[in-house]
Amino acid sequence: MRKKIVVGNWKMNTNLELALNLVFDINELKGRELESIILVPFTHIKVVQDIACPNLKIGAQNVSQYNCGAYTGEISSTMLESMGVRYVAIGHSERREIFKEDNETIKQKVVTALENNLKPIFCCGEPLQERKNNNYLPFVKNQIKTALFDLSKEDMRNIFIAYEPIWAIGTGETASAEQAQEVHLFIRNLLKEKFDTETANNITILYGGSVKPNNAKELFSKKDIDGALVGGASLDAKSFVDIIKANV
Ligand code: PEP
Repeated sequence: MRKKIVVGNWKMNTNLELALNLVFDINELKGRELESIILVPFTHIKVVQDIACPNLKIGAQNVSQYNCGAYTGEISSTMLESMGVRYVAIGHSERREIFKEDNETIKQKVVTALENNLKPIFCCGEPLQERKNNNYLPFVKNQIKTALFDLSKEDMRNIFIAYEPIWAIGTGETASAEQAQEVHLFIRNLLKEKFDTETANNITILYGGSVKPNNAKELFSKKDIDGALVGGASLDAKSFVDIIKANV
């Protein structure tokens, strides 16, 4: 049985005080039963870990492709692992688009993260133009092929995939549940072809792109949508917890 999960991505938002308040509110509203993950700014990881309930896991939003050395400003997988972090987003579209991370760099990040016992939340998804040109499936295939196809089946057990069409991120425009399901099934079939049925059936594929309490249930009703990567709505405790509850 594959894992169903909702992951919050705070991006570069909150200060320490706001972060503590937000986690406190999430703890209160969510209770101890439901599991979820929040990806917080690096600077907040330690303090947030100290107050989060055990079922609220703390992850990072990015990681270096290098283990250590002269890379000023970077944070390595070994550093995250030593802090007890287990999850890290890799290849988020904002990293790809704004910071020009290419598929090869993202592949190196995935490999380094896995070598250090982190579970990558590998993000993929097409820009608007590729959707308009009806080229979105080959585009996503290329992202997945470059970053994941050289991994072992064993490695694939420690990966989550997040399909996030760029045109739906932070825009208020969600992919319809049918549009998302089409790509999720496509990804699962790709993995079936490349690895095997077990790998494909066991991998968690999240949808991301303007998920809100009012559209979450419909998205989660689709067979191949196992949860969500939530940006904006994860900054509001009630909205975030409502989305988590829609996934049970
Ligand atoms: C994201 O940050 O990955 C995201 C999907 O953002 P939003 O939910 O705000 O569209």
